[in-house]
Amino acid sequence: MLSVENVRSAYGRIEILHGVTLNVAAGEIVTLIGANGAGKTTLMHAISGVQPITGGTIRFEGEPIEKMPAHARVVAGISQVPEGRQVFDPLSVKDNLRLGAWSRCNADLEQSLARICRLFPVLESIWETPAGALSGGQQQLLAIGRALMARPRLLLLDEPSMGLAPNLVDLVLAVILSLKNEGLTILLVEQNAGAALAIADRAYVLETGKVALNGSAAAVQNDRRVRESYLGI
Ligand code: ATP
Repeated sequence: MLSVENVRSAYGRIEILHGVTLNVAAGEIVTLIGANGAGKTTLMHAISGVQPITGGTIRFEGEPIEKMPAHARVVAGISQVPEGRQVFDPLSVKDNLRLGAWSRCNADLEQSLARICRLFPVLESIWETPAGALSGGQQQLLAIGRALMARPRLLLLDEPSMGLAPNLVDLVLAVILSLKNEGLTILLVEQNAGAALAIADRAYVLETGKVALNGSAAAVQNDRRVRESYLGI
């Protein structure tokens, strides 16, 4: 579904991604793990189109998308849940969700809202509450719900467990698994490598802008370097 080949990206003259190659097949959860500053968010932004690339190709369902603006990639079927959630604080939960559906010209808006309520019943009880007043866990569910309102086929999830209490991390992981079971394809960036590897099919390890290792989640989990550097074992 997604094919990233030899992608390079820079901020000014400082190159951050030095030729990254990564693939995601339909129906998979693929996780991208790596230390702070490895370039994980930069890669997610390159795929969603908010960060330009300076080399390489990005194909979605076979079509090159690297020249497409970010909003067109949403229409094509890619939604991003950004790091830090980035909900619209003054807007209500409902309005945040409605904004997520902008690309669909309000088609099936009520049905889409009802689907989010089914997935995250807690949101319905705080429908009119400004997003800025929600807890971190509620904001994370809202950010995921907002991305789902665009009806993506590929969901880019950047650090969904960041700053959440352990029970909420488990809830978010369960939500990710249930989305996969509904057929969604997911690229998951996580610093919580143990949690990400537990639900992923395959994994990539990014180190200073390069893929250092990739394989099945089980194989990556058992790799000595991963155990020492990322799992603390
Ligand atoms: P983290 O887990 O901390 O989010 P990351 O692996 O997602 O790390 P990036 O956020 O992609 O890493 O950052 C990679 C490098 O690019 C870091 O050195 C960071 O300081 C730098 N960087 C990120 N955004 C910018 C920017 N807008 N301008 C300049 N440098 C940036």
